[in-house]
Amino acid sequence: MKAALFYGGPDIRVEHVPDPVPGPGEVVVRVKAAGICGSDLHNYRDPSFSFYRTAGPQLSGHELAGEVAALGEGVTGLQIGQRVGVEPRHLVGCGHCRWCRRGDYHLCPTRGRQGDKRLHSTGFAEYSLEPAFNVYPLPDHVDLIEASILDVYACAVHALRLAPVNPTKTVAIQGAGAIGLTALELFKIGGAKKVIVCDVVDAALEMATRLGADAVVNSAKVNAVEAVRDLTDGEGADVVIEAVGGTAPTFGPDISMAARGGTVLVIGMYNNPQNLDIREAQAKEINVQLCNSYSLWDGVPEFKIALDLMAAGKLRAKELITHTFPLDQIKEGFEAAANKAKSGAIKVVILP
Ligand SMILES: [Zn+2]
Ligand SMILES: [Zn+2]
Repeated sequence: MKAALFYGGPDIRVEHVPDPVPGPGEVVVRVKAAGICGSDLHNYRDPSFSFYRTAGPQLSGHELAGEVAALGEGVTGLQIGQRVGVEPRHLVGCGHCRWCRRGDYHLCPTRGRQGDKRLHSTGFAEYSLEPAFNVYPLPDHVDLIEASILDVYACAVHALRLAPVNPTKTVAIQGAGAIGLTALELFKIGGAKKVIVCDVVDAALEMATRLGADAVVNSAKVNAVEAVRDLTDGEGADVVIEAVGGTAPTFGPDISMAARGGTVLVIGMYNNPQNLDIREAQAKEINVQLCNSYSLWDGVPEFKIALDLMAAGKLRAKELITHTFPLDQIKEGFEAAANKAKSGAIKVVILP
């Protein structure tokens, strides 16, 4: 099959590799669309940063949707050609540890690993090998390109599970990228009283307004902490969602814009240690809740919750997907995703 091989940093080459062959209980998915995740950009920007433990060029791509191309032994309930969304393979837990048994398989100490081998989806390729239980049939009216970012929405569902809201709760989101905007959608659906979105790019804030933000703050032009306090009767936000990550100096301000007894939920991935004034956080009894991937909510896969919301027409994935590129132009796709201020991209999707 044709596949993008990641040699480290911006060195991405489209080459031929062997087709995957499904073992018992596995499915080969013909990839139709695969989103570029913020986590994919960590290695692109800094080749020394790698989730992979093995040397040499890597296949990648964990936000994907496509069609069933081959079924392994014993797989039932799926048909060749069926359109499917895929919960990525790196989230598969061992099934036996304490965390897997209580449904928190995203916390499994050996998640996405089989011995020394790292198991992961290969969305930036023609085919991806997946366990059948992670493959979700899509209703006919759900678009495959939109379905490729169900993984992003599932993360936002998980964030809502970790920081529940109700009509008394105000929310401030730092960062209007794909993570921040999907969180905006989910926390509105979750019933928050008011959701405020902060970013430094006006176009991103305009998108936030279109997607239902009650107020937006350009933190390059005004003091975001003061703005959020002003918008919350001086109290600060009950839930602050950190969705910038990288090397942004936003964690301190997150604490300062949180209300007393509030929660700072970190969903963006930082690349460096963050400083906070522990005295302020402690005086306000702030809960710092870090958030990583997703699993089950009350026994229901959070991926399935996202899919059901999409099928019901409640998500605005179409508007978030600003750019698409064929697999042969994946380099351009990564360039657009890595330089969002220049490209205006929110979500970039590759179409293998
Ligand atoms: Zn992702
Ligand atoms: Zn486990």
